[in-house]
Amino acid sequence: MPSIPIKPDRLLGDLQHLRSFGARETGVVRPAYSKADIAARQWLAGRMAEAGLEPVFDPVGNLFGLPAADTPCMLSGSHSDSQPEGGWLDGAYGVIAALEVSRASAEAGGPPVAVVSFQDEEGRFGALTGSRVWSGALPLDEADRLTDLEGRTFAEARAAMAGLCAADFVRPDRFTGFIETHIEQGPVLDEAGESIGVVDVIVGIRSLQIRFTGHQNHAGTTPMAARRDAFQGLVAFADAINRAFAEIVTPATVWTIGHVALQPNASSIVPGQADFTVQWRDGDKDRLDRMEEIVRGTAERVCAERTLHLDLSNHVAVPPTGMDDGLRARLESAAAETAPDNWRVMPSGALHDAANVARLMPAAMLFVPSIGGISHNFSEDTDTDDLIRGAEVLALAIAV
Ligand SMILES: [Zn+2]
Repeated sequence: MPSIPIKPDRLLGDLQHLRSFGARETGVVRPAYSKADIAARQWLAGRMAEAGLEPVFDPVGNLFGLPAADTPCMLSGSHSDSQPEGGWLDGAYGVIAALEVSRASAEAGGPPVAVVSFQDEEGRFGALTGSRVWSGALPLDEADRLTDLEGRTFAEARAAMAGLCAADFVRPDRFTGFIETHIEQGPVLDEAGESIGVVDVIVGIRSLQIRFTGHQNHAGTTPMAARRDAFQGLVAFADAINRAFAEIVTPATVWTIGHVALQPNASSIVPGQADFTVQWRDGDKDRLDRMEEIVRGTAERVCAERTLHLDLSNHVAVPPTGMDDGLRARLESAAAETAPDNWRVMPSGALHDAANVARLMPAAMLFVPSIGGISHNFSEDTDTDDLIRGAEVLALAIAV
């Protein structure tokens, strides 16, 4: 039994209530700074106050619930904004689990626990905007110039919360560490029938935009040997990197050619140009480097063999973020006690606020299963028992 006894009915009741803001089918539509998002944050602030926490909206709308005592304490939470079509648990679960552990700890005479719901984790203005600004990774004046798909600026969007927000950011030195609880959003735990994942690393991401330029020509009169077909180059490239990656990857490594545009993209024309993206993710920087050598080397070789011109652009590199060893050990022993033989250590293939908070303080994460591995979808769900168990593991790790 956790020494901070959480109340499952209260945890589940609050989760269901949060779900009512922006409810659509079985999911939610609650993008950052929308009416539903702001209403949800105001309700959360009220629940924080009822739990004895002081609710504070910082200048970008991150909502903190701060214990009365000014002595440094643990911080836990996630985000309560959603994708344009989101599930009811993505982010919301980590915020409500933290809230429940905080008030259960207060009731049990345990340590004070601060709670946070970061703003715009889902990236209306890029990605993880609220925690990027709070962690110092993104200066506020730069953030203010970011625009969403409709051309509205971040400054305009956050003005919708101006009446609620404090002038200053919450000082990070109020907190000794950060634990984020989240749904896995992938199939690993669900397929293994396991309850808890303790994250060892939030994977790094690399991506490149690639253009193969050949020669556009008649699809009936141009002999195969005379073609400089950009699409055939792309196919050869995709096959070659799959084979080369197989030698160096782990089962957790992923790579994607996710966007392809052919010119002129017509059935009777040999494609003259292929634009595509290659993105790869892994928890190990050296492996990311080796994969990048393969991507670049393969593109050069394929283009040389097929007389195509090669352009590489938009190189993106987000480094892997290792979780704090001490906090991770606490989560591992809490998982071993709460879900014996039913948990694992695993990487996070998705980015999370914890990756930004790790710039400021020790940070760690735990996962509960996503049924069928489904997320960013109205049908996203998790078994009730797993929702309770995840909060119990968080409580136990914080009580230590
Ligand atoms: Zn999330």
